[in-house]
Amino acid sequence: MLLDPPEGHLSISTNPILEHIHRRLHFLANSFFSLMDEEEDQTHSLIRNLVNSTSARYNLHAMRTKYLGIILILSIFAVSSAAIAQTRLKKKWIREAMFYKKLPDGSVRCELCPRRCIIPEGERGYCQVRFNKGGVLYTMTYGNPAAVHIDPIEKKPFFHFLPGSKALSIATAGCNLRCNFCQNWQLSQTTPEYTRNYDLPPDSVVAIAKRTGCQVIAYTYSEPTIFYEYMYETAKLAHKAGIKNVMLTCGYIEPEPLRELAKYLDAIDIDLKGFSDDVYRYIGKGRLKYVLRTAKVAKEAGLWIEITYLVIPTLSDSEEQIRRMARWVVENLGDTVPVHFLRFYPHYKLTNLPPTPVSTLERAIQIAKEEGLKFVYIGNVPGHPAENTYCPRSGKVAIRRRGFFLIENKVDKNGYVKECGERLPGVWK
Ligand code: SF4
Repeated sequence: MLLDPPEGHLSISTNPILEHIHRRLHFLANSFFSLMDEEEDQTHSLIRNLVNSTSARYNLHAMRTKYLGIILILSIFAVSSAAIAQTRLKKKWIREAMFYKKLPDGSVRCELCPRRCIIPEGERGYCQVRFNKGGVLYTMTYGNPAAVHIDPIEKKPFFHFLPGSKALSIATAGCNLRCNFCQNWQLSQTTPEYTRNYDLPPDSVVAIAKRTGCQVIAYTYSEPTIFYEYMYETAKLAHKAGIKNVMLTCGYIEPEPLRELAKYLDAIDIDLKGFSDDVYRYIGKGRLKYVLRTAKVAKEAGLWIEITYLVIPTLSDSEEQIRRMARWVVENLGDTVPVHFLRFYPHYKLTNLPPTPVSTLERAIQIAKEEGLKFVYIGNVPGHPAENTYCPRSGKVAIRRRGFFLIENKVDKNGYVKECGERLPGVWK
């Protein structure tokens, strides 16, 4: 049965109540599982299967009695919040998408990211925030960020881009990858009906950036590609107002939308999850080649590029992967592109692995230097000397950092190290 949406709101699901129950249970169950002991694995998978099926197929008798109460409470909560969720999505947050094709049978092909979803009438794409209604593709992430923060630019991380500047950072719900270690999974692995959203159209974002003295607007946290139209319009206005725009991305975007966006972007940080298709398939159902293509397109477009590489124990920490990645960056992007090796911490569904040993990260920067990279950093280890930028000429610290904070900066507005006159690559004014 369809519920009539309240005035001023748009229902986009063919069965919003059932869909809400399914999503809410899935979300709560994931939170719940992360708190449970490993020895209960068998019961977990039973519940997980149950949650992943439609509500009509619940077989309560198959479960252990001790979890019946919990599931009952979750179900009541899910049902009671269904109506609330429907009112959370305002009509003005829904816009016709850019980059799609209408197909003769009423379906549409989204051409924003390499998944190129074919979306039948009434359905959503893989990212769950784009839907086909009446043969038109809509985005439901326009002007409704669920996260708005002012961060130091170092947190993104950008180390060669306006050090010490403030970045107004925004993100909506949704992602086009499903990484099982995502540290922002409450934001990325859901949709805007289920997040608390600010009502912040592009001009308001720019106004806030100006009012708060942010030199940069960062599109970050979840995957900005899925709120492309919002990012694009905001970046356009910010560019006009003299505010710089940076994108933190998994790199899952098609070349044409990236080229169009790059007219207003200043920098991009591409987040590598590893350097093999196996890793991408395992953690996020993706393909490495598309991410590498994005990096090449960004270079052609003249964007300042920094690369982050998450060093996940047993998955992406092998010498062979790190060496191939470093070599690829040198050959395709240049030896002055900063590469950040990030320490992995267990998050979301990938909790059976330990944090990356610091020695592994130190080995990674050594390998990267052997392959010719000039600026390599360690992230998520506050106080480590590899957070600093060293002058290639004198070997002395040119920019000193601790965690996300700038402690000392000896680089002038033209990129020259004041003590020795060496010019560092980057964007400095
Ligand atoms: S942006 Fe979303 S709908 Fe479009 S191709 Fe990618 S996953 Fe599919």
